[in-house]
Amino acid sequence: MLKKIHIASHHGFCMGVKRAIKFAEETSENATGTVTILNEIVHNEHVVEKFKKRGVGQAKSVDDVSEGTLIISAHGIAPDIIRKAESKGLNVIDATCPLVTNIYDIITDAVKDGYNIIHYGNPHHEETMGIVGYAPDHITCAANEEELLALPDWSDRKLGLTVQTTAHIEDFAIVEKKALKKWPHLKIFNTICNATTKRQSAILELAPKVDMVLVVGSNSSANSHRLAAISNDICGNGILIGSAKDVDASWFDDATIESVGISAGASTPDFLVEDVIKKLVEISGGTAEVLQSETDRKKVSRTIG
Ligand code: SF4
Repeated sequence: MLKKIHIASHHGFCMGVKRAIKFAEETSENATGTVTILNEIVHNEHVVEKFKKRGVGQAKSVDDVSEGTLIISAHGIAPDIIRKAESKGLNVIDATCPLVTNIYDIITDAVKDGYNIIHYGNPHHEETMGIVGYAPDHITCAANEEELLALPDWSDRKLGLTVQTTAHIEDFAIVEKKALKKWPHLKIFNTICNATTKRQSAILELAPKVDMVLVVGSNSSANSHRLAAISNDICGNGILIGSAKDVDASWFDDATIESVGISAGASTPDFLVEDVIKKLVEISGGTAEVLQSETDRKKVSRTIG
């Protein structure tokens, strides 16, 4: 019987996502002519759909956009793509998160100082592709520890290590140690963002206290997957759900599931989290206690009050 619902102290929209959505909203209200977002503004289908309904287009490549305003998503983009868009006469609105832009600056400065960079991240993620675009001849990507440690000796090179903003904080601490053992001269630039650190730390605190963790987020959201995986490692029952519709009441037929933790990825709107809490309270027959941090108290009481 579900008795307690614990809300993670940090969850949901991060600064970079809020900022990108604000840019896209303002642009769609004020721009004359067509407005197109390159890729998904943030990795959440509800947010993407909201802009489609406003008549904002979406393109996978700048080659598919011939006029109007082009919005760059929070994940950023390689500089040659921005140049290409500008050379086509497009009005470019850059909603790249400042913490991603900060990585561009770190890499540009390091390369000027003679460094080659190993970037620890998924090479197919938009953020990584944008970062690599800032110094394609000086960056090598490693998607995991195995790939990173298999890289050449490079003892004769000035070497730097950067990391995807949403990487697993504990895994990266291990990788960092092993990398330093292989390359003692390696300069570490820990570029995991503050939002990731706070959300993962909140899960590390929450997951040991509960029987199940539900992470609200899209399948396309790397940071949501990571939160679910961390929860699963700790409590053995971490599940990524897109919305309240994915909550299965039969999960709670299991009498051992008495407490559920709730978190959400950095691109998940609050209303989706609120809907999940509502559904869980309903499943408990209205008896489950909702426990949240001081920061989230207002937000949650609005839902269940
Ligand atoms: S997850 Fe971090 S880097 Fe990505 S948009 Fe949010 S604050 Fe920026």
